Amino acid sequence: MSRSAHPAGPRHADVLPEGHYQAPPSDLNHLDQRVWSRTVTRNADGAVEVGGLDVRALAEEFGTPAYFLDEADFRSRCRAWRAAFGNDADVFYAGKAFLSRAVVRWLTEEGLNLDVCSGTELAVALDAGMPAERIALHGNNKSTAEIERAVTAGVGRIVLDSFQEIVRVAAIAQEHGVRQRVQIRVTVGVEAHTHEFIATAHEDQKFGLALADGMAAEAVHRVLKLESLELVGIHSHIGSQIFDMAGFEVAARRVVSLLGDVRDEHGVELPEIDLGGGLGIAYTSEDDPREPQDIAKALGEIVTRECEAAGLRVPRLSVEPGRAIVGPTAFTLYEVGTVKPLEGLRTYVSVDGGMSDNIRTALYDAEYTVALVSRTSEAPPMLSRVVGKHCESGDIVVKDAFLPSDLAPGDLLAVPATGAYCRAMASNYNHALRPPVVAVADGGARVIVRRETEDDLLRLDVG
Ligand SMILES: *Cc1c(COP(=O)(O)O)cnc(C)c1O
Repeated sequence: MSRSAHPAGPRHADVLPEGHYQAPPSDLNHLDQRVWSRTVTRNADGAVEVGGLDVRALAEEFGTPAYFLDEADFRSRCRAWRAAFGNDADVFYAGKAFLSRAVVRWLTEEGLNLDVCSGTELAVALDAGMPAERIALHGNNKSTAEIERAVTAGVGRIVLDSFQEIVRVAAIAQEHGVRQRVQIRVTVGVEAHTHEFIATAHEDQKFGLALADGMAAEAVHRVLKLESLELVGIHSHIGSQIFDMAGFEVAARRVVSLLGDVRDEHGVELPEIDLGGGLGIAYTSEDDPREPQDIAKALGEIVTRECEAAGLRVPRLSVEPGRAIVGPTAFTLYEVGTVKPLEGLRTYVSVDGGMSDNIRTALYDAEYTVALVSRTSEAPPMLSRVVGKHCESGDIVVKDAFLPSDLAPGDLLAVPATGAYCRAMASNYNHALRPPVVAVADGGARVIVRRETEDDLLRLDVG
């Protein structure tokens, strides 16, 4: 490995410290198109551009840290999912990954439906004009107020998660003279993440009603008896950041088997199956996600095959990608504040954000990549850890990365694939002001979620 030490960098030990890092890339200036949104390139100056806009100008105008979301990329991913699933299936964008009025408008225009899992997500969706019948409400503990809001707005489906909720939703629907379309969320005994899935006999989690112990079948039985509920289907969601379709195959097989039991016992064929979200994206060059058309083909074939075997009409399929649509479309732009080489270990590079704008590394041990984007550098690579400015040693943004050893305060770094579960999970830890989301499209940039201000925080603090 060619890791000659720069005077300002640490002397690298022969044995590198523990970590997940690969060998340093041959060209640190290279941007792997797999992890960057589609309109990201380097310009003649060596600076990175998104949608034709130089990150140095973007930092100047919008400040750092900030998320830059590539609208063209977002829309093209929506179209790819719609086209892949066609007219016999529905694509629900999982709003929890990232939701704002602009995003809701794009989804509405691109023909996607929307999942929400709180009354306030529902409020944003309705406010931005998503037709209620295209919205599904999820959650394991929806409040009466949330259910009421969903029922009176006329949401297309409520996904039921417990016996108590069945009674609750039925009562509220009845009170409002509505026959509410519902699905039942079942747990199929499959937990899938990335390259593996675990099939368990019984379920130990808060979501859904288990197939294995008969709770799912009992829920179907109870819902079918209630006048104010129209049971349209069964819902399953098995995990997150999944690349291997085998877990979906087991899930589909088990859901279809429940549909068969329901037909045998109650004489009804439920018309819908939702197989949830959880499709993986490339956070690093090691990740190799499947294209929507591959996923659609695989899921369609599994469901068709299982239904044919069970002698069932093939139900309408729906899926709920969140991360797979918005994740790759945004990067976080940071300014380097301090560079601290630790002899024989690595260099700690502190940026002006951290766990308040990206909790995923601390929470899930998530892996990200990072690049110097305000210029190119021919300096040798230095093993680095990109950390935030919070009072917490676990405040890590990118655990293991190679950055050029001439990195200096004032340089701009960007972390790609931060569109999902970053702004959505952002916090005010240390009274950090949550960063803005700036949509970039056609050579223009506009704030779609503004940066929080000190006034915003002080207004909440009424003591
Ligand atoms: C979180 C969630 C999704 C979206 O998951 P992604 O990993 O973002 O695709 C879809 N459906 C349900 C029920 C979820 O809880």
